[in-house]
Amino acid sequence: MLSCKELVANSSDFLDSLLSLRQRLSVRMHLAMCYRCRRFIKQMRLTQGVLRRLPQRQIVELDSLAAKLAELRRLQR
Ligand SMILES: [Zn+2]
Repeated sequence: MLSCKELVANSSDFLDSLLSLRQRLSVRMHLAMCYRCRRFIKQMRLTQGVLRRLPQRQIVELDSLAAKLAELRRLQR
């Protein structure tokens, strides 16, 4: 059985369907039993879906916005 940490490490491959059948099964088994990871995967799916729908330019803007926010937070300390 996978640990939550292993599941998180495999999550993007899982969402991109890059895992082997065996790996996919162990992820699914873990998700069936672990509410927190289920919620995490759901969140990842939503995020991925939103990012796919955004035009590339907006993703770049989001990146620079995130960088600005990080900078602001650094200055406030
Ligand atoms: Zn878990």
